[in-house]
Amino acid sequence: MEDGRWKKAASAVMACQGFNFIFYPSSFIFSFIRRRLMKIGLFGGTFDPIHWGHLRSAEEVSETFGLDRLYFIPTSIPPHKRGQTTTPASDRLQMVRLAVARNPRFSVSTAEISRPGVSYSIDTIRAFAARKQPGDALYFVIGLDAFREIGTWKDFPAIFPLCNFIVTSRPGSKERDPLKGTGVAVKKLFCYDSKQKDYRHQSGTRIYFIELTDIAISASEIRALVEQRKSIRYLVPIDVAKYIERRGLYGGRRGKRS
Ligand code: ATP
Repeated sequence: MEDGRWKKAASAVMACQGFNFIFYPSSFIFSFIRRRLMKIGLFGGTFDPIHWGHLRSAEEVSETFGLDRLYFIPTSIPPHKRGQTTTPASDRLQMVRLAVARNPRFSVSTAEISRPGVSYSIDTIRAFAARKQPGDALYFVIGLDAFREIGTWKDFPAIFPLCNFIVTSRPGSKERDPLKGTGVAVKKLFCYDSKQKDYRHQSGTRIYFIELTDIAISASEIRALVEQRKSIRYLVPIDVAKYIERRGLYGGRRGKRS
C-alpha cells in the first residue's frame, strides 16, 4: 500500500477508536485489558517414579500445543493399578516436585493425593473445570495405551465435554489412531474432522494425537533396576535418583550411590 493510503487507513482506525471511547468507554477499556485465554494441561500418572520419558513427553506436548501451564497430577489410588502401587503418595509427590522444579510452565497438583478414596479422573477434571476462568481450555494428556482403556473409566461420557485430550504415542507402538481399540461406546461420541485430522466431540472438544520422540523408559523398569542394586543414572533426574537413594525406595539400600 502506498504512503497516502496507509495514512488514510490509520486515521480511519483512530476515528473508530475515538468513537468507541466516547460512546462505549467501558468496551474500549475492556478491549485493552481483555485477559488472554489460557490453555491448561493435566498430566496424571502414578509417577512411581517420575522419569525422563514423562518429562520429555510433557515438554514436547507443551511446546506443540502452546500450553500455558501443565499440571503433573500424581494419583493417590489409581483405579486400574489398585494395590499395585505401594510407594507412599508423599514420596511420589516429592519426586515429581523435584523433577519439575526448574520448569516455570510445569506445576504439581495435589488434587488426587489430597482427595480421599480412589482417584477417578472425572473428579479431577471436574475440579479443574470448576476452577478455570471462562474461555480457558483444559487438555488432558495421556499415553495411547492408557487412553485405550477410557471406555472403562467412571462416567467417561461426562468427561469429554469438559476437556480436550492429547493422546501421546508410546515407544515401540506404530498405532496413530487414538480411537482404535477404545470400543464402540467411545467411538460413537466422536466424528473425524478430515481438515484438522483429529476427532471432534459434539460439545466441540477434540482428541488430538501427537507422535513423541521415543524414550523407552518405564517406571517399572526403574523400580526393577533399583531392586537389583543397578544404576538408574540418566533414566531419572539426578535429584530424583538422590531422593530414591536417600529414602531407600524400591528395595534399594539407603545411601547407595545411584
Ligand atoms: P509403570 O511402568 O509403573 O506402568 P509408567 O511410567 O508407564 O509406569 P505412569 O507413571 O502411570 O506409568 O505414566 C503416566 C503417563 O505417562 C501415562 O499416560 C503413560 O502413558 C505416560 N508414559 C509413561 N512412560 C512414558 C514414556 N517413556 N514415554 C512417553 N509417555 C510415557
